[in-house]
Amino acid sequence: MSRAAKAALLVLLAWWTWRLLTHPFQQDVVGGIFMHRVDLMFHEAGHLLWSPFGEFMTMFGGTLNQCLVPIVCAIAFYRGSRDLFAVSVMGWWLGENLQDVGMYINDARDLQLQLLGGGTGAEIEGHDWEHLLTMMHAITLDHRIGHVVQTAGAVLMIAGLGAAIFLLARPQDRGQAGGTRTAGTRTTESARPLPPRAGTSTIAPRRAPEHRTAAPTGQQSPT
Ligand SMILES: [Zn+2]
Repeated sequence: MSRAAKAALLVLLAWWTWRLLTHPFQQDVVGGIFMHRVDLMFHEAGHLLWSPFGEFMTMFGGTLNQCLVPIVCAIAFYRGSRDLFAVSVMGWWLGENLQDVGMYINDARDLQLQLLGGGTGAEIEGHDWEHLLTMMHAITLDHRIGHVVQTAGAVLMIAGLGAAIFLLARPQDRGQAGGTRTAGTRTTESARPLPPRAGTSTIAPRRAPEHRTAAPTGQQSPT
């Protein structure tokens, strides 16, 4: 991904962050950004995926899945290419998912959110978080938990975006445009220590003189 494309992506994420943070719990905004559709897709898939694990997990699987996907992607980016920029963006994405989840939890008693099938939770038979919190005997905590989740998401979005901006702006990343150069220098650096592959030999000579010096000093102390 070119620096220009990364910069354009960050401008978009910054815009979404601003929208989400200035309109928390507002379905037209939280559900209006493009990423919400992606989240929704993984949410629905989660219900199916976790359905073998009982009623609670089937219900919780939607939320769990939409949050797990960015985490799994972040791990894959890190393990695959140590791509910290992508990891930061995945962190932002998890935060954005939590905006969605927080809004959903917050609605457990009100049931005013428009749901996928059409109609609000009040018009049909409730929704995921109404059932989940009822099962956990915590329905009265819906607003509190919703706010905590929303706040955690806000912090993650800001942190993810901030980290991504930092990574893009730092001089190392600029130099990476000539990635070959960086890679070249690294090869030469790593090539150097290799020849004394007698890495043993590098350590051995060091130890030897120490022992030698240790012996005389050891002899000196008795005196
Ligand atoms: Zn659901």
